Amino acid sequence: MNNLKSICVFCGSSEGTDSAIIIESELLGTKLAERDITLIYGGSKMGIMGRVAIACLGNKGKAVGIIPGFLKTKEIVHEGLDELVTTENMHERKLKMQEMSDGFITLPGGFGTFEELFEIITWSQLGLHHKPIGILNTNGFYDHLIAMLDEMVNRGFLKAENRALLIEDTDVDSLLNKMEHFVPDLTSKWLKPENT
Ligand code: AMP
Repeated sequence: MNNLKSICVFCGSSEGTDSAIIIESELLGTKLAERDITLIYGGSKMGIMGRVAIACLGNKGKAVGIIPGFLKTKEIVHEGLDELVTTENMHERKLKMQEMSDGFITLPGGFGTFEELFEIITWSQLGLHHKPIGILNTNGFYDHLIAMLDEMVNRGFLKAENRALLIEDTDVDSLLNKMEHFVPDLTSKWLKPENT
């Protein structure tokens, strides 16, 4: 059982057009607060990022923002965070997010969200960390991505055991429960001697 004290949430700096996604994002912020799990995220008060943080803080949760200096004005920082870490650049931001978090959840978002999800899952595939990575598939937003991952397995570009690194659910509590019980497969192809 993983003791998740902090979870990094990757999600859109935009709010999107689906109210179910906004509601679910706020629910995640609330659940993190209720479970006493610190929110680690990009530090913005805009978009889905802001929705999660505002809900978490509004329910007496703890939220830590990590943002590179050059993005501070563009993403419009949330001024009421428990801690705001300013990094030199995007690379340092992601490294810090990884170091400070016991797990990762991806909500709907754009290019930035996808980049963050795939970098963190690649680090797991390489054995650089063994933390649970979840994707909240609200209203089927990630159906096509999940189908793509299965296609990658079917066509031999992705090992089934690496595909299994991504935990998915449509329900916040159920996703968090799965992440708590996630057991990493330490026999990943990247860790086997014949591949080194
Ligand atoms: P988006 O999903 O594009 O709205 O972006 C969500 C978050 O990802 C924001 O905090 C962005 O700063 C961040 N982001 C955008 N582009 C990148 C990138 N190339 N690498 C890492 N993070 C990014």
